[in-house]
Amino acid sequence: MESNFIHNIIDEDIEAGTYGGKIQTRFPPEPNGYLHIGHAKSICLNFMTAEKYGGKCNLRFDDTNPQKEDEEYVEAIKRDIEWLGFKWDKICWASNYFDQMYEAAEELIKKGKAFIDEQSYEEIKSQRGTLKEPGQNSPYRDRPAEESLRIFHEMRDGKYPDGSMVLRAKIDMASPNINMRDPIIYRIERATHHNTGDKWCVYPLYAFAHPLEDAIEGVTHSICTLEFEDLRPMYDWSIREVGWWPDPPKQIEFARLNLTHFLMSKRLLKKLVDDGSVDGWDDPRMPTIAGIRRRGYTPEAVRDFCERIGVAKANSLVEVELLEHCVREDLQEKVPSRNVVFDPVRVVITNYPEGETEECEMENNRNVPEMGMRNVPFSRELYVDGQDFMEVPVKKYFRLFPGNEVRLKGAYFVKCEEVIKNEDGSIKELHCTYDPETRSGSGFAGRKVKGTIHWVDAATAVEIKVRDYDYLMRDVVDENGNVTDQEFNEDSVTERVCMAEPSILDTVPGERFQFFRHGYYVADEKLTTAAEKVFNSIVGLKSSFKISK
Ligand code: ATP
Ligand code: MG
Repeated sequence: MESNFIHNIIDEDIEAGTYGGKIQTRFPPEPNGYLHIGHAKSICLNFMTAEKYGGKCNLRFDDTNPQKEDEEYVEAIKRDIEWLGFKWDKICWASNYFDQMYEAAEELIKKGKAFIDEQSYEEIKSQRGTLKEPGQNSPYRDRPAEESLRIFHEMRDGKYPDGSMVLRAKIDMASPNINMRDPIIYRIERATHHNTGDKWCVYPLYAFAHPLEDAIEGVTHSICTLEFEDLRPMYDWSIREVGWWPDPPKQIEFARLNLTHFLMSKRLLKKLVDDGSVDGWDDPRMPTIAGIRRRGYTPEAVRDFCERIGVAKANSLVEVELLEHCVREDLQEKVPSRNVVFDPVRVVITNYPEGETEECEMENNRNVPEMGMRNVPFSRELYVDGQDFMEVPVKKYFRLFPGNEVRLKGAYFVKCEEVIKNEDGSIKELHCTYDPETRSGSGFAGRKVKGTIHWVDAATAVEIKVRDYDYLMRDVVDENGNVTDQEFNEDSVTERVCMAEPSILDTVPGERFQFFRHGYYVADEKLTTAAEKVFNSIVGLKSSFKISK
């Protein structure tokens, strides 16, 4: 991994001997949805940083919120991290530290650093002040520590209703940082927690809980996104004032990943799932890790992408084309090619013997000779791609049209002699002739043609379903060309039946191919069976010249 400003901080710590040279990071998702590609950036950063320094990275489920946690999300998060190719040292649950967090709060009360406030949330909020004006002290601020401690125990024992009182840190109501104006650190909430059940009716708030989780686990560098920068003073204060840890972790913020066309919020993604706009969290159009996996993206490409965008201190918007470029580049040398004809047009080679079939050798990957060759049957009747024939050609069109000769990739030169129509005027088939002297590999009898097209043998062709995608979200752009919003794209998937060479029958779910001249495709991991092959478009080929008819 390339060095970045976070690594510079770590280098300094190592040099100074802080943390005894040990490096510990963590990835701390809240298990309230599936991970998206933004999380992948955080995962790469945390795991690769640990790797680089011979340290360790924990997977910590941040489950201090007693809302219903879903086993499905926990399993999905583990699967996604493993798919990206990382191994956590330990799996941790923030809720396992509730006892220690409670004791830490007691410690603050005893030290006169926290107090019980009996005001309502509204009253507390109204005293908070603004960016320009300081807040007001709570009338309970100076109550004796013993009194706060007694009430805090009664709170825990269930003596008071939800929301009737809170524990607040005693810091500074005039602090320029509003997060430091006596923030609430414990609240009363009667909720059954997935891990601790009904043991607790008081729960710590994030700003207090998160630093303690890090400190308890011996995290050295707590890497998080920029929106937590304003919470850093509270992070440091909590650990310092509790005072149990001689080597407090350091919080370091980096810019979160934003991608054009990609919605990057679990909450909004969950809405799309819940209202049925998409086929679940792993719909191939979703920016979730599960979605891009089903879409055929590779973990190598995602990691490469995360490295290329680097780690910055300022928020920015990355073009989704960069991610697509990484995917294309990774697949280029990895996946074999297959002939698939979209929008099939039947071709009859009138001078080819009826009933005869021959095998044509095709390279599996033109950039990687070691990937070998395969045989593809050729006979009198074929299919070619709809976009490779024009009855009335446009300028510079070198493919099939009446009177023109093209090369059939891996086979022969053929010439279009006649267009046969159905009664309704649509094209029934093309009658062509072939030149037996131009067999592929023969040197084409010294002749040249301008166009080369692909084809499949009609007798053995296999019908497959092919899904092409548009972006799930459309960018809303203002008059200056700046993206201001994203809206749901109703027409983001088209499915069609295409004709593939017979080897496609061996495809297993998740297998990727280049459909020659069309793009990269993956056999859908859920819908592909022995009998039916359903393919998702992964990404197009670089410069596909598409003619508009
Ligand atoms: P969301 O807003 O989508 O729910 P979150 O930040 O609430 O995301 P968490 O489960 O709390 O999700 O995040 C786990 C970790 O992933 C956090 O450290 C968070 O900073 C990081 N993270 C989340 N989104 C991004 C992003 N777009 N780019 C980089 N890191 C991210
Ligand atoms: Mg969150």
